[in-house]
Amino acid sequence: MKIIAMIPARYGASRFPGKLMQDLGGKPVIVRTYEAAKETHLFDEVYVVTDSKIIFNEIELSGGKAIMSKKEHDCGSDRIAEAVEHMDIDIVVNVQGDEPFTSKEGLEQVLNVFKGADSDKIDLASLMTEIHDWKEISDPNCVKVIVDKESYALYFSRSPIPYPRDKNAAVQYYKHKGIYAFRKQALLDFYRLPMRTLEAAEKIECIRYLEYGKNIKMAISNTQGIEIDTPEDLIRANKVLKEENKNTDNTPNDKYRNFPMVPKVVFGKGCFDQLASILAPKRKNKAPFIYIVDDVFTDNKAFIERINIRFNDKLLFVSTKEEPKTTQIDDIVKEIKSEFNYTPSGIIGIGGGSVLDIAKAVSIMLTNKGSASDYQGWDLVRNKAIYHVGIPTISGTGAEVSRTTVLSGPKIKLGINSDYTPFDQVVLDSDLTQGVPKNQWFYTGMDCFIHCVESLNGTFLNAFSQSYGEKAYDLCKEIFLDDTITEEDSRAKLMMASWHGGMSIAYSQVGIAHAMSYGMSYVLGTKHGIGNCIVFNHLEEYYPEGVALFRKMVESHQIEIPTDICKNLTEDQIETMIDVALGLVPLWENALGNDWATIMTREKLRDMYLKM
Ligand code: NAD
Ligand code: ZN
Repeated sequence: MKIIAMIPARYGASRFPGKLMQDLGGKPVIVRTYEAAKETHLFDEVYVVTDSKIIFNEIELSGGKAIMSKKEHDCGSDRIAEAVEHMDIDIVVNVQGDEPFTSKEGLEQVLNVFKGADSDKIDLASLMTEIHDWKEISDPNCVKVIVDKESYALYFSRSPIPYPRDKNAAVQYYKHKGIYAFRKQALLDFYRLPMRTLEAAEKIECIRYLEYGKNIKMAISNTQGIEIDTPEDLIRANKVLKEENKNTDNTPNDKYRNFPMVPKVVFGKGCFDQLASILAPKRKNKAPFIYIVDDVFTDNKAFIERINIRFNDKLLFVSTKEEPKTTQIDDIVKEIKSEFNYTPSGIIGIGGGSVLDIAKAVSIMLTNKGSASDYQGWDLVRNKAIYHVGIPTISGTGAEVSRTTVLSGPKIKLGINSDYTPFDQVVLDSDLTQGVPKNQWFYTGMDCFIHCVESLNGTFLNAFSQSYGEKAYDLCKEIFLDDTITEEDSRAKLMMASWHGGMSIAYSQVGIAHAMSYGMSYVLGTKHGIGNCIVFNHLEEYYPEGVALFRKMVESHQIEIPTDICKNLTEDQIETMIDVALGLVPLWENALGNDWATIMTREKLRDMYLKM
């Protein structure tokens, strides 16, 4: 008998977007689930079947087997049915993608059902758990099941079944668990059968089998898994995993990250004019350089002339009114591909964090198929990017040194974090930052300051991060508080502060300000620099020294920090903000330690947001 496991994995989940790609002890939830299913050794094969390229790539990359579903599906079993239609198998078990701790015991029980004398009669098997609490029994989110004396399901319902007319009758209630083992034919039948009224009324898939006279045999399993439905579940799951790791003694051999750095950098006033000679050896016959430039420079003729466009090179102005989007990257790549028959010699990004990120992403997407949104996450990029150069014209984000390019996708805001992301060459010419408006100079500069505060106060801090963080922190103090420093000096120092700040978080993490401003930006579109400032201004409880200094800087430069941003938010907006912020587990862990979830509750976070 050939038995396989299928893990249906839909990317978008209404309550917790992208939950299957959330980090669970260094691996995405879906990879954990896959590995857990594999480790039971109960299956000939384990597959993930998904609608998402991101999940597909992630599973393949981790050495697993994944299948892209061809059609839109309403439910997981349809997705599985499509996948197994042409497979030579007898039994398929569906494993829930969001149950990373799926126990061997439960899966064994559901398979054992087919080993009984009545095996031929059974179309599918499923599991149930005893429940005792009336609150749970009467909760419509909890599906109850009743069985006959041979444990065949009689009915599934969201109502309490049976109804306890006689309160003294000794009746055991059971909750249905969403694990099934199907005979292949039963699953294919289900796929073709139209929904009937009982199923439609209760919104419970497996009622369809009963309505068509199929036999579902139930087994009791009282093991408790953790389903990841909310950010809080994820926190619990991370804790459980930590405990488990403590008890086993295997140290992973990838404990320390091995990351690339920018291999070439030129620094100095006016070094921008060396660009042509830096690029010359990189030019490939007939293949152009593409310059992606912030459109703030559109009318700055003198500056554009210095860029030294040659042959068929292309100048592409981009707007930074909004933060970079995956669709914007896809459009630029399409434009370049349709205009040139050759892969460009290189991409040169000239601008702030937004343009630098766009340049990095475009250089990746010119050699990797699909949409930029397929690669949002960690290490999903397969092919080396084309040669790319970063030239900052405003300082603070550290995007010039970092290993990520932050993009808003259709479903999430998340960077393409990969070994191919960092620039091959960076040109640091502090003269280029001369025209930056004062408020913007401050907001972006504070991104650097906040990176340092969060890194230096974080629990992930090590000497590597600290050495860069302390230097950048001191430079920021000098730049923003010492009024004897010349403007020219200040520009050069901020450029280096940004660099060090970026290096500092490479090995550590940012913290509360970033987690919260990320939530704010997702819901309100608030830009990164100003969003950080709005949030950080309210974090004296967590970063007392940093916030005190920040306020001094604000005062000394007479900067206005917007207030009452979250005052008129709808309940939905605030809930999403909280979900997005709490989803960034590593940031909270860095800021508040392992027990962060007991400190930063939803209520606490809501209170904080409402003050902003
Ligand atoms: P930005 O690139 O959006 O630029 C801010 C403003 O400054 C824009 O209006 C721009 O036109 C203007 N500007 C830039 N240079 C100028 C100049 N020389 N003269 C006049 N105006 C100039 O802002 P930013 O704060 O540098 O970057 C924010 C972005 O960086 C966000 O999208 C954020 O997600 C991203 N980010 C990325 C990383 C990373 O590691 N990749 C880190 C932090 C932030
Ligand atoms: Zn930042």
